[in-house]
Amino acid sequence: MTLTVRQFPCLSDNYGFLVRDDASGKVACIDTPDAEAIKAELAKAGWSLDVILNTHWHPDHAGGNEALKAATGCTVVGPAEVSRIAAPDRVIAHGDHVMLGETRFEVIDTGGHTLGHVTFFDEKDQIAFVGDTLFALGCGRLFEGDAQQMWASLQRIADLPGDTTVYCAHEYTASNARFALSVDDSAPLKARADDIFAARQRNEPTVPTTIALENATNPFLRAPLLRPDIADPAEAFGAVRAAKDAFKG
Ligand code: ZN
Ligand code: FE
Repeated sequence: MTLTVRQFPCLSDNYGFLVRDDASGKVACIDTPDAEAIKAELAKAGWSLDVILNTHWHPDHAGGNEALKAATGCTVVGPAEVSRIAAPDRVIAHGDHVMLGETRFEVIDTGGHTLGHVTFFDEKDQIAFVGDTLFALGCGRLFEGDAQQMWASLQRIADLPGDTTVYCAHEYTASNARFALSVDDSAPLKARADDIFAARQRNEPTVPTTIALENATNPFLRAPLLRPDIADPAEAFGAVRAAKDAFKG
């Protein structure tokens, strides 16, 4: 392992992530939900911040950019839409890569929750930061994109190696599990839901997850199987997403 990840809770249900390339000591912050919490975590780790990597423009992901930049002198790297908060120093898009010391992050287009949402994938360490696109047993709401775009984005994530560790930006898993159980009664899902409810009882995080676990149990990735009545996979996904939006559980 050449990338060290520190995960910590921020705001009501976000996770903050600090990552260090161990070879160079370079440190990145994935999204900036809460500048004060991130500064406290940097101090705890004894790390200094070199760069912010934004997945999308939402305030609970880019709202701390300016304060952290002022406090640390770091640079900001993100998709063009982050200019809605403040212009990034470097704008990135699908197919680009970002180096953190010797660690290389591939930039993958995962638009749908917002139009310009991106995922950062470190292939060597098999680690992905997926922001608000994929959650443990869930996926992001379609605030800007449509079901076609989000399904294509989710497929790009689902196609990553099964062992990939997936860092999602929110702890929504218990409520996602309640919805998942309402549309899917598979044994792997039931077993996982039991684990999730127990973990949350103990106040333990359910993030990170893995690609293999999500492919096996996430009702949004399994939408075509759960809705065999709908021929088009993206439409099947859209139907499951709409059911979640209406779910009162
Ligand atoms: Zn968001
Ligand atoms: Fe968010």
